[in-house]
Amino acid sequence: MDLLKEIGNAKSVAIAGHIRPDGDCISSTLAVRAYLKNARPDMKVTVFTESNPPTIFSYLEGYDEMNLTYSPKEKYDLFIALDVSSLDRLGESMYFFENADKTICVDHHETNPGFADVNEIRPEACSTCEVLFDTFEKEHMNIAVAECLFSGIVHDSGVFQYSNMSRHSFNIVGELVEYGFDGPKIISETFYEKTYVQNQIMGRALLESILFMDGKCIVSMVDRKMMEFYNVLPKHLDGIVNQLKNTRGVEVAIFMYELGTQRYKVSMRSGGKVNVATVAIMFGGGGHERAAGVEMNGTYYDVINALSREIEKQMQ
Ligand code: AMP
Ligand code: MN
Ligand code: MN
Repeated sequence: MDLLKEIGNAKSVAIAGHIRPDGDCISSTLAVRAYLKNARPDMKVTVFTESNPPTIFSYLEGYDEMNLTYSPKEKYDLFIALDVSSLDRLGESMYFFENADKTICVDHHETNPGFADVNEIRPEACSTCEVLFDTFEKEHMNIAVAECLFSGIVHDSGVFQYSNMSRHSFNIVGELVEYGFDGPKIISETFYEKTYVQNQIMGRALLESILFMDGKCIVSMVDRKMMEFYNVLPKHLDGIVNQLKNTRGVEVAIFMYELGTQRYKVSMRSGGKVNVATVAIMFGGGGHERAAGVEMNGTYYDVINALSREIEKQMQ
């Protein structure tokens, strides 16, 4: 996709990612903002996101200027959805999507149905930031744009670890580091570093995890009481599912936290034998082959049973 051509002479653009934003989401929205500041300096560019976005990304240009209130409710010429796998994950920015003259979606979720007027969805890309890099013209790139794209790739690839990193992804990382930002600092401070209480709650989740299916599956859960005790929010639980997945012999890791009474946010990670996106889709979620999510109703054991039935079918 030729992004600037699609943008045409739009004078205002609303940019948004998905609810409960992760690193690729925050980074891709701020990357487009920084890019358009260069390429289209006269354009009105607004990035919308939920209140309390992860503060670890506050070093990115434009972080402090994001609109966290979704107001005023104005009409924009253009709406750009980034890293949003389906319309229901737009959250409150839906208003701006519905009222824009034209909508664009850039994403890398294989489950994305292509809900915008113009869609650039590349499931083989490690991140939305990778897809964006290919749509950006070099002359409008700068260190701020590059720092955003690098951060998104780092987070969605688990620091270049997952199989979603292709030769092309690595080439992009190589080009990005040339811009001269502090890559190692971004990796250690935004990906690995956790607060003391985050480490404590991760410890609890690991301690209370259950291995099943002959050690091929692991599951753990954090309930609201525990989150209140440690005074943590959902965004502070990032990384727990990956740590569960690091258990030797485990093919599928399931981590969930309580959203409300008998309602859970589920995260799944797979080593490759099981396509967890297809499991998530069955219950209304989505994601990628090796990393997917879904929200489910029922007791903790209802949710485990429902998921493990589908996982077991694929394991055979
Ligand atoms: P998470 O487990 O939240 O880190 O998400 C893993 C992947 O699945 C990410 O690419 C998410 O965008 C996607 N995902 C998570 N939750 C949902 C959901 N409820 N519906 C669709 N996709 C989801
Ligand atoms: Mn995301
Ligand atoms: Mn992503």
